Amino acid sequence: MTDGYGRKIEYLRMSVTDACNLNCSYCMPEEGSFRCNCNNNLTVDEFAEIVTAAAELGIKKLRITGGEPLVRRDIVELVRRMSEIKGIEDISMTTNATLLAPAARDLYEAGIRRINISLDTTDTEKYARITRGGRLTDAIEGIRAALAAGMNPVKLNAVLMGGINDDEIEDLARLTVDYPVELRFIELMPIGNTRALSKDAYVPSSLVLERLPELEKIDSEKHSVAKLYRLPGAKGKIGLISPLSNHFCGECNRLRLTADGCLKPCLHSADEISVRGLHGAELKEKILFAVNKKPRMHGELSTTSPSESKRSMNRIGG
Ligand code: SAM
Ligand code: SF4
Repeated sequence: MTDGYGRKIEYLRMSVTDACNLNCSYCMPEEGSFRCNCNNNLTVDEFAEIVTAAAELGIKKLRITGGEPLVRRDIVELVRRMSEIKGIEDISMTTNATLLAPAARDLYEAGIRRINISLDTTDTEKYARITRGGRLTDAIEGIRAALAAGMNPVKLNAVLMGGINDDEIEDLARLTVDYPVELRFIELMPIGNTRALSKDAYVPSSLVLERLPELEKIDSEKHSVAKLYRLPGAKGKIGLISPLSNHFCGECNRLRLTADGCLKPCLHSADEISVRGLHGAELKEKILFAVNKKPRMHGELSTTSPSESKRSMNRIGG
């Protein structure tokens, strides 16, 4: 599939639930996900039908996200079904990893070979504060289990927040010296609930380069939104993801599917196209329609000009 600006769309990010066992202050409304209408989530069969149609149209790469995908009891079955779909060559997951340890091997066997794990801090109290009650040790166990299961690469996502975790840039980056992980610093995006955070929380990812002048630039993966660096002699890599200071719309190859069955042509636009309950030619037509609705680029993102998306991040999947 090619959109109206000549971009080849091969990547589907699929949110499988709005619910989450954590409640990160930059993602989720303060009252949490308990009010989300989780009975409204698509079933495994519904996801399989949509992904099969998308794969027939050219989607090759799938990311399973949420909310927290591991709160779904049928997550291993869901992954297995996705990996059986003809044309899907690569399945990955984004998770907070706090429920990953007991599930990592089964997920690997079902088809998850690459995983992104959210880790904004290495400080136990700060972790509990940012996630509103999460336990850092659970996430660390999950990261270890992902590595032990053979997942590769294991990428760690840290949302960079001034006055909250910018004092940990060096410590987080140092994790890549001993562990073969890619630590990605992501600029905080003004979307959904982030209005509650102070303006000072918005810091550019270039701060990482100022703090770590020894970083060496290395080649980035094709279509990756991260610019890659390495600390001298490190086993792992450091990625900078800069949706505010240096947007990557020109390279965008993705479409998003929400847990309630809406396609989002762009993370930061209010446009949504429901495909729930559609089948066959009608389903494919709507997928192509969503691809054609992809804007050339999203509007300006800043504290005074927040995302136009009507959903908070837990209802999109990042
Ligand atoms: N629960 C899973 C997790 O935390 O990895 C998957 C869903 S979460 C919505 C996906 C990604 O979005 C996470 O890496 C999270 O840090 C990121 N995210 C959420 N809100 C964000 C925001 N306002 N700005 C930047 N990244 C955000
Ligand atoms: Fe949950 Fe992930 Fe959002 Fe944190 S970032 S509240 S773990 S969905």
